[in-house]
Amino acid sequence: MDVDDALPEVTLPARVLSELYEHALDRERAAEECCGLVVASAHERFASVVRCRNVMTEKHQQDPEAWPRDNHNGYFMHPEDLRAWLEPDAAERVTAVYHSHVGVEAYLSEEDLAYVQNDLFPFPNADQIVLSVHNKRVKSARLFRRGGPGESFVSMAVAADHA
Ligand SMILES: [Zn+2]
Repeated sequence: MDVDDALPEVTLPARVLSELYEHALDRERAAEECCGLVVASAHERFASVVRCRNVMTEKHQQDPEAWPRDNHNGYFMHPEDLRAWLEPDAAERVTAVYHSHVGVEAYLSEEDLAYVQNDLFPFPNADQIVLSVHNKRVKSARLFRRGGPGESFVSMAVAADHA
């Protein structure tokens, strides 16, 4: 995994990071992006992973003009998978939203930004994690955190915390 030394670093528990990798690699077999949530516990900011179904292909099939991308190069989390996390107390526990990029770098695309900066996006304060998968391996992972409420995202390198 390539890590740019110039980037500030954020650590995730190793077991959480490996769950993200597993999900990304699992979906890569279909050349699709994975997506989901990372939620906090009382003791950990990034405590567990909630896989969500990617329904971008369905949205694309229903309305290709409004949704030009599909699961290969975009993601849209299934609303049912999010339902339990939309109550204010639960939403507060959503500390990151993750998705993967198949064969391209780990960055926030224009579409990604439009999705997460939309007024309807339910987790405006969550970090964004993007995994780049290529040839059956995770090439890199980045976490994007807002500089402050409504401010733009700062890119951070992701490392595993084995503590
Ligand atoms: Zn993306």
